[in-house]
Amino acid sequence: MSKGIEIIDVGGVNCYLLEADDGFVLIDTGFSAKCMFLDEVLKKALNKPTEVSKKLKLVILTHGDSDHAGNCKFLRENYGAKIAMHFEDSMMVENGDMSWNRKSKPDRISFTFRLLTFVFGKNSFFDTFKPDIYLQDGQNLAEYGLSVKVIHLPGHSKGSIGILTNEGDLFCGDLIYNFAGFSYIDNLEDFSESINKLKKLSINNLYPGHGKPFSMSYFNKKFMWRIVK
Ligand SMILES: [Zn+2]
Repeated sequence: MSKGIEIIDVGGVNCYLLEADDGFVLIDTGFSAKCMFLDEVLKKALNKPTEVSKKLKLVILTHGDSDHAGNCKFLRENYGAKIAMHFEDSMMVENGDMSWNRKSKPDRISFTFRLLTFVFGKNSFFDTFKPDIYLQDGQNLAEYGLSVKVIHLPGHSKGSIGILTNEGDLFCGDLIYNFAGFSYIDNLEDFSESINKLKKLSINNLYPGHGKPFSMSYFNKKFMWRIVK
């Protein structure tokens, strides 16, 4: 794992706090019901007594689902962070409709969210917001003090992205979960293309939105047979 990555479990959703050159960047924000917990962890990380306190500059959303976007508005209002995501998931967070730009019928999507509520015991209501920045495939985030690249990985949702560090760590959002063999694929064609794209990148470890991080070789052993047609 690259140094300067802290994994924060926000009610069953992995959020990743990355140390940038002169501040921090947070990938995903968890359920809104866990807002105070996230606030506490961030305050501790940003105000270490031995160091000058650092700012949370940017929040990157791997996709627009409410279990990941739940605390964006709070973080913008209380930390001044800008919110960045792919345009193709933007209306999910602007109007709170998780079926926007998805192929699956709204019934299947609401069933999945009911299942999430059941598994994690958190509801998925959240404060909607308009993103500040739209990210594109191949974009680097040097201006935010991070040596990473944005990788567009649709499949779970149209605007799903991964964030790949120079060290080969990929934050893959919900493209692949490492959680009870469960995954939610909205568009199988997009998903297969994203998996093929991923195989061509230099990746050492994957950091999913749910479940423990895993290596690329574990991915090849455990996941490939289920994924590639
Ligand atoms: Zn999720």
